[in-house]
Amino acid sequence: MSIRKLPSHLINQIAAGEVIERPASVVKELLENSLDAGATRIDIELEQGGKDLIRVRDNGSGIDQDELAMALCRHATSKISTLEDLERVRSLGFRGEALPSIASVSRLQISSRLPDQDTAWCIFGDSDAKVQPAAHPVGTSIEVRELFYNTPARRKFLKTDKTEFGHIENIVKRIALSHFDVEINFSNHNKPVYHLPVANTREQQERRLQQLCGAAFVEHILYVDNQSAGLRLSGWMAVPAFSRSQADLQYFFINGRIVRDKLLMHAVRQAYQDVLHHQRHPAYVLYLELDPVMVDVNAHPAKFEVRFRESRQVHGFITHTLKKVLADLRPADQAESLLASEVSAGLAPGGQGASTAPPAAYTHQQSMGLAVTERANAYTQFAESASRSYPEAVANATSPMPDGEIPPLGFALAQLHGIYILAQNSEGLVIVDMHAAHERITYERLKAAMDGEGIRSQPLLVPVTINVSAREADLAESSMQVFEELGFGLDRMGPETLVVRQVPGLLRNADSVSLIRDVLSDLAAFGNSQRLREEFNAVLSTMACHGSVRANRQLTMTEMNALLRDMEVTERSGQCNHGRPTWRQLSIQELDKLFMRGS
Ligand code: ADP
Ligand code: MG
Repeated sequence: MSIRKLPSHLINQIAAGEVIERPASVVKELLENSLDAGATRIDIELEQGGKDLIRVRDNGSGIDQDELAMALCRHATSKISTLEDLERVRSLGFRGEALPSIASVSRLQISSRLPDQDTAWCIFGDSDAKVQPAAHPVGTSIEVRELFYNTPARRKFLKTDKTEFGHIENIVKRIALSHFDVEINFSNHNKPVYHLPVANTREQQERRLQQLCGAAFVEHILYVDNQSAGLRLSGWMAVPAFSRSQADLQYFFINGRIVRDKLLMHAVRQAYQDVLHHQRHPAYVLYLELDPVMVDVNAHPAKFEVRFRESRQVHGFITHTLKKVLADLRPADQAESLLASEVSAGLAPGGQGASTAPPAAYTHQQSMGLAVTERANAYTQFAESASRSYPEAVANATSPMPDGEIPPLGFALAQLHGIYILAQNSEGLVIVDMHAAHERITYERLKAAMDGEGIRSQPLLVPVTINVSAREADLAESSMQVFEELGFGLDRMGPETLVVRQVPGLLRNADSVSLIRDVLSDLAAFGNSQRLREEFNAVLSTMACHGSVRANRQLTMTEMNALLRDMEVTERSGQCNHGRPTWRQLSIQELDKLFMRGS
């Protein structure tokens, strides 16, 4: 076969294979073009999940009659012309390949009118087509019909209308979150999905946020705005209590461009460390602004990953900023926002920092809290039993207070559905999430034990072998020191085999195999052991989770009372490691109200 140049139509179709994966990719390109054209209003219409029709109309700068055909030529762009431009690119597009690619796999029409002209012009098809007069207000409409009509293999790969619509909705969301100054109207089969007016004030922006990310998110957000050395980070982060089981509410924008970058995600994670369980995901909408020359957005074809010139500085700035916002979070803020969503249930938060006047139990607990330091010594002694399961704890369970007074969290009445402990105190009813409470107690003890004497380890009678990947085995081998600090005695037996000879005494009852796997995955994620030290509390938190009573375990009255007494002397026991409350108070007055008694 002789070598020949490919026809341009085929080149465009090949390019389309990379840039245009599905209708959502078309929507993304068209919206970015509208934004680059300075539009302040964009209307998006869909049919059949975008498979049959995508129409994007904007009121932007428009395209000149003579340039309509050019817009459909490959590598033709109005956005950059030199390497210097590329290095400081601010526009969302710059490759000049979206329109020709889309045109090569669909029936595409562009209609446009410049601000100073009376006539609009349109072009249908590709760059060879004739430009014709049209009726159109100032701005541009691009209509994409029958996507992939001429590449049946690709069309077959498209999912249901609903799925494709979901992908498009995601794109629209991101664009809407990154451009509050643009009005966006989004409709599907002539039914409005979002109508988002321009949002200039923070209040208006939070209203848009609510439409896009949900009311629950907006009820739990903290506002972020910090600036230093040419970097600015602003936006919203959710309190730890609003953590998610999936990383599905994480939006990060750099200079108005959505990114999904590992460095940034890690920096955010690190800020939440110690207040969020490592299997939970934080929720945030954040904006980083910096001089475009400090960041290479050309590192990835879909432009999701970026390269920073000063990545350490950026990482540090983000972690520091967010950590500070979280540290400034008073327990009361959290209690109040939790309260807001629960007012209708008539439940007052029982944890520290309730927004109402402190009930007797609260005051009492405060003074008990002061006693914690005094008891610290006694504490370290039994730190060894930090992860004790509650039967072992019975010996330590304090019986009613010497003077016959009722302790702050009262005495257990019963266990509900294997999850909650119901107790009675002087105020009324106390409800305790037993796993959450035990987890916080274990965590605080692990930290105290670590600070005190390090973790003591205990040899296993029968060493346990674990099969891992060669990579994990390498990782374990190079991190033996770290494992020793954690109280594990670990050896490599073969390329893919580890053997556990010693476990931390604290965790003799825990599932050490899955624990080691978790630590290994932490190591894989956080890299070197220097990093791991910083993540130490996160690992302890994991340990606490593994070592704590699971739901559906029947506890005896004595065990339940032992847990209540432990809670009273543990710092931060009002919240579990994930930031959820561990207990709530329902006072007699509130109960009376619920039952309309005496009113
Ligand atoms: P790029 O965005 O990378 O420049 P595209 O293929 O997406 O490449 O668009 C080609 C050119 O068409 C753009 O550079 C711009 O000049 C013009 N264009 C596309 N869409 C619009 C629009 N909505 N309004 C004004 N000009 C547009
Ligand atoms: Mg473009």
